[in-house]
Amino acid sequence: MPSTDFEGNRPRSVLVHAPFGRDGTLLCEVLDRAAIDARVCARIEDVHAGVRSGVGAILVGDEALSASEIERLQGVLAAQPPWSDLPVFVMTRPMDTHRRYSFSKRLERLGNVSLLDRPLRAETIVSAFHMALRARFRQYDIRDHIEAERRSAVTMARANDDLRRANEDLNQFAYSVSHDLQEPLRMVAIYTQMLERSCGPTLGGKPREYMKFAVQGAKRMEELLKDLLCYVQVVNTTGDEIMHCNANEIVEQALQNLETLIAESGASINCGDLPAELPVKPVHLLQLFQNLIGNALKYRGEVTPEVSITATRYEGGWGFNVYDNGIGVEPQFARHIFGVFKRLHNGSSKYSGTGIGLAICQKIVERYGGRIWVESEGEGRGSLFSFTIPTVE
Ligand code: ADP
Repeated sequence: MPSTDFEGNRPRSVLVHAPFGRDGTLLCEVLDRAAIDARVCARIEDVHAGVRSGVGAILVGDEALSASEIERLQGVLAAQPPWSDLPVFVMTRPMDTHRRYSFSKRLERLGNVSLLDRPLRAETIVSAFHMALRARFRQYDIRDHIEAERRSAVTMARANDDLRRANEDLNQFAYSVSHDLQEPLRMVAIYTQMLERSCGPTLGGKPREYMKFAVQGAKRMEELLKDLLCYVQVVNTTGDEIMHCNANEIVEQALQNLETLIAESGASINCGDLPAELPVKPVHLLQLFQNLIGNALKYRGEVTPEVSITATRYEGGWGFNVYDNGIGVEPQFARHIFGVFKRLHNGSSKYSGTGIGLAICQKIVERYGGRIWVESEGEGRGSLFSFTIPTVE
């Protein structure tokens, strides 16, 4: 029996089953001369075994194909993998049109079947088998392709799983660190402040300055940890039920929260008509608008701040714009500022902050399958922050 199977190498052999006379031996000699590895099967069961192990093609004499035998062969052929369609040749004796028609009708259920009329010419049989083996090789190409795809899908799924687990661990770690560090840090902040209050007046020169730096450092660290915790909480919250909110009401709420900053800067805020129903958790949309509008006011230039908020419908979601006439962002930093703790004005006491706000905005937008970006013509030219919220899955 041929050594190949459906998982192994491509089959190069063909099986011939012609039980009467010397047909089988003669055919094998013809095929051998054409460098086709052909074997005679004395029993139809050997043909079945060959089909199960994935041969190149089979040739069966019609005398071996009674109605019940066709059914058995069909059963064996039906067990092939989906990509396999074994070429089956049936040698027929001369018969009248009616018999031939009903015989070929019965053979149809064998699938990839061709009739070869006896007497067979050597060239006909050789070219038929060459073609069949070529087609069979193509089927094995498809098998290899399917297998490669399956393997790469498995590898990809494993890599995704590993990445997801690593991300979860990292988020959990960040959460624990930012949460657990808060308590000891609060102690440091409180006691340095108490020390400053009680000993500060008695200290002079350098020690007083050192004390001030220690208090400032502790306060700054507290702010950073608080914001980091807020960021990690946004990242870690999963599986929320979908909620809808009215963006007009959310912006109204954000403006109320920013009331002092708006009054202080004398800013004029313009808000267009926003969607009344958006599939986003209200707290998330509030964080988004409050961060973006807050930044538009904080990063103002010399002129009175003007902020405008608009929304546009696009196919599959909503696009939002928060435009300001502030200090602007150099285009080369447009992506950088969405990173955690990334700030462009770290040294300047004029603009306080931790560099987490936009990272939170980005996380929120991405949770809902949207995108956020900034456009600006550069320093002093204002900024346009845009984000999208898809409304369909
Ligand atoms: P923070 O304001 O605490 O620094 P953000 O993540 O909100 O943190 O912003 C990151 C950086 O992006 C800011 O430090 C600032 O340099 C820049 N930025 C954000 N919003 C604006 C804006 N409207 N105009 C100019 N620069 C901005």
